[in-house]
Amino acid sequence: MVVDRILPSDEAYALLDLTREIGERELAPRAADFESRGEFPREVIRTVGRAGLLGLPYAESDGGGGQPYEVYLQVLEILAGSWLAIAEAVSVHTLSCFPIAEYGTERQRKLLPDLLAGDLLGAYCLSEPQGGSDAAALATRAVRDGDDYVVTGTKAWITHGGRADFYAVFCRTGGPGPSGISCLLAGADTAGLLPQPPERTMGLRSSAPAQIVFDGARIPPDRLVGGEGTGFTIAMRALDAGRLGIAACAVGLAQAAVDYAASYARDREQFGRPIAEFQGVGFLLADMATQVSAARALTLAAARLKDAGRPFSVEAAKAKLFATDVAMRVTTDAVQVLGGYGYVADHPVERWFREAKVLQIVEGTNQIQRLVIGRSLTRG
Ligand SMILES: Cc1cc2nc3c(=O)[nH]c(=O)nc-3n(C[C@H](O)[C@H](O)[C@H](O)COP(=O)(O)OP(=O)(O)OC[C@H]3O[C@@H](n4cnc5c(N)ncnc54)[C@H](O)[C@@H]3O)c2cc1C
Repeated sequence: MVVDRILPSDEAYALLDLTREIGERELAPRAADFESRGEFPREVIRTVGRAGLLGLPYAESDGGGGQPYEVYLQVLEILAGSWLAIAEAVSVHTLSCFPIAEYGTERQRKLLPDLLAGDLLGAYCLSEPQGGSDAAALATRAVRDGDDYVVTGTKAWITHGGRADFYAVFCRTGGPGPSGISCLLAGADTAGLLPQPPERTMGLRSSAPAQIVFDGARIPPDRLVGGEGTGFTIAMRALDAGRLGIAACAVGLAQAAVDYAASYARDREQFGRPIAEFQGVGFLLADMATQVSAARALTLAAARLKDAGRPFSVEAAKAKLFATDVAMRVTTDAVQVLGGYGYVADHPVERWFREAKVLQIVEGTNQIQRLVIGRSLTRG
């Protein structure tokens, strides 16, 4: 089903048409195969980059698309409906470009055109094995030694780990807590930057995350973004925007599940009638569709606040929380609509159900989103 959308420009309508075409032609036909083999789709990501979809919210003067966030998110939504791993790759890449685009020096910003065209792939390294939620307690250390920072520690769950060309690495240059954290840019060819084998994940197997061990990796000081001690602020600001990307991925995945389940229910007959005619199934589909529309509305409302330059982090947390919970519920219900056929890999709802789960975990678990929302209420 093509969702009826009100977009801010003719260019945005054309962009969404292009995205739909790429989704149908380049992504959807390949998704199941790549996911079952666990093969990283680097060439597909390049194709998406060549179409101009890898740097949409960044300035045209940097090589980006100069699009409002609300348009970028709807592109992500369509990509996610075709292949979640590609939408997540676009979202994580966009996140990893944030430190340079917002805080980078003139020299660092020279990376942007290649990044935003997708010739270079980025990764965002915040989480560590001993903790993802309590990011302010991170332990990876960067110590000045002569002309360089020497980085030692382990980053965990890094999307594009071992595939990326550059890593935005959050590490401790000072004392404990958020004010001791800085952001360094590390090229993939940095000696002592050691990607580990990909994790064996429940879903998103084509783009499984990996640990990155920093074993005395030397990074020159001109790769420091935004000054020592500003890393935590950079990381959190990036995540505010990134969470909206995850919310949009959730909406796209859930919409695909509603469409697939509805189409199946129209064709599948039991007791001599299409199962869609049974109220038990029709009401289930109605609830699924309603939840997806609500998740989309919440996500776009937060994006429009961001586009207007207004505070949006609490609304982004609500959107991420709601949309990803909706994606989990709706993909679960889609399996139910297909009955036994929903439980086997012959239909994509089996994979979508597994993929939805991770959206409740990444870029701050949904408990952490509740923490952000709750604090805004209790602290005023
Ligand atoms: C596929 C995948 C891709 C990822 N990609 C990246 C990436 O590219 N870069 C990156 O930096 N990280 C990435 N992550 C890491 C992800 O952000 C973390 O897994 C997440 O933040 C949770 O951290 P954790 O796994 O250490 O869980 P923990 O922080 O140990 O949390 C465990 C449980 O405790 C709950 N919990 C923790 N603290 C609280 C609290 N105060 N109140 C209530 N409940 C709480 C959590 O919600 C969770 O249910 C990825 C993870 C996955 C699975």
